[in-house]
Amino acid sequence: MTKSLYPQGYYAAEAGQTASRQPLAGTQMADVCIVGAGFTGLSAALHLAEAGMRVTVLEAEEAGFAASGRNGGQIHTGMRKDQRELERWLGPVHARDLWRIADDAKALVRDLVRRHAIDCSLKDGLVIAAHNAAALAGLRDDTAYLAANYAYHASRIIDADETARVLGTHIYPGAQWDDGGGHLQPLRFVRGLKGAAQRAGTQIFENSRVLGFEETADGVRVNTASGTVVAARLIIATDAFTGAIAPSLAAYIAHVESFIVATEPLPPEVREHVLPSNVAVADTRHVLDYYRISPDGRMLFAGRESYWNPPADIAGLVRPRMLEVFPQLKDVAIDYAWRGTVGITRTRMPHFGKLSERVSFAHGYSGQGVALATMGGKILADEILGSREQFDAMARVPARKFPGGPLLRKPLVTAALLWFKVLDSL
Ligand SMILES: Cc1cc2nc3c(=O)[nH]c(=O)nc-3n(C[C@H](O)[C@H](O)[C@H](O)COP(=O)(O)OP(=O)(O)OC[C@H]3O[C@@H](n4cnc5c(N)ncnc54)[C@H](O)[C@@H]3O)c2cc1C
Repeated sequence: MTKSLYPQGYYAAEAGQTASRQPLAGTQMADVCIVGAGFTGLSAALHLAEAGMRVTVLEAEEAGFAASGRNGGQIHTGMRKDQRELERWLGPVHARDLWRIADDAKALVRDLVRRHAIDCSLKDGLVIAAHNAAALAGLRDDTAYLAANYAYHASRIIDADETARVLGTHIYPGAQWDDGGGHLQPLRFVRGLKGAAQRAGTQIFENSRVLGFEETADGVRVNTASGTVVAARLIIATDAFTGAIAPSLAAYIAHVESFIVATEPLPPEVREHVLPSNVAVADTRHVLDYYRISPDGRMLFAGRESYWNPPADIAGLVRPRMLEVFPQLKDVAIDYAWRGTVGITRTRMPHFGKLSERVSFAHGYSGQGVALATMGGKILADEILGSREQFDAMARVPARKFPGGPLLRKPLVTAALLWFKVLDSL
């Protein structure tokens, strides 16, 4: 029996509830209004407020309520598409600009944690585990390519024996060990960003769902049920939910539900043989497993996805997969189970752009937003502050709509994602 289905499950229980949330009331003036208090919105707010801008953030629930406060906490290297693919698609210069942004993203997370003393159990080390021999060959190739062409020397290939030793499971033929990756407690990180943004002068209103916005001759009016923010600029940082307030963007973003469980703290004799290296792990399948150990010794395991109706019994869905990887957890109870909505794009690259001179957006980090959304917020802030280079590099990545109108889109996306699931089993 799981203890909590509170939205962020284990993370909220571990980090504690926050004090009362203040909703927007009346009319507020701001230089920049930001919709959404996740990594994107709060990082944008922090960077703008540090530059002296008057910033107001409007959040429908509470900071970190959606993906940012309930994800796997894994910090990945690069973009979701590998560099060779990006070079073929966009050319070597653009691909290199995107690599630099992804590299800056990891450094930014570490710098923010240090600079603002955010207590979020940040650790270095990520393992990408190959689910079969072909995937291992791909990882080997990729590791060599990044070393030779991008001077990236933080990752190396480990063989089946070493993989079994550092992970505590024998199911993988090998893996890529990446010292540049890492992991953290995401809800604590996003709350840390909130605190830093507030100390820099940002006003944050929670329980303040934006119902719509309108542009006027001299600004943007952003409306909630109980108030309005009048601002010179608007940032939409609502990721999977962007289509609700910006319908013209709905076709660019699809939703996938991902599920995570947290076991009880592992007994010492079990803990010793499960992830002794304390790295975060993701495997190479399309519908991937990703997991790590919490500071209090629980297995946080995520696997399975749902594209239609999320199941009621999340623990029952994830547990069999967890036991395939770690049969030694068969007698361990699951204390928490929760789900989150991942915003994905058709290209699996984040989608940045502007709806008008005053309204910008970034969404669709496709499962890789811990570092990239934090960086995305800074890039959106920089664009407003007059430094457009990285914004332009992101916005120039061609975005593709999912097919179908509002009614057909979901079944078509579901069919496409199920096809990837079939490929995993081949
Ligand atoms: C289960 C899960 C596991 C994941 N694991 C990883 C991982 O291990 N590593 C990784 O890099 N990435 C991972 N991701 C992806 C990552 O969490 C996201 O890419 C990232 O958090 C997106 O941040 P964001 O700020 O853009 O969006 P969000 O965190 O979704 O924030 C958007 C905010 O907007 C608010 N909002 C929505 N509509 C409105 C409205 N109308 N008015 C006001 N506010 C509104 C929401 O309440 C929310 O707080 C995972 C995602 C999920 C769901």
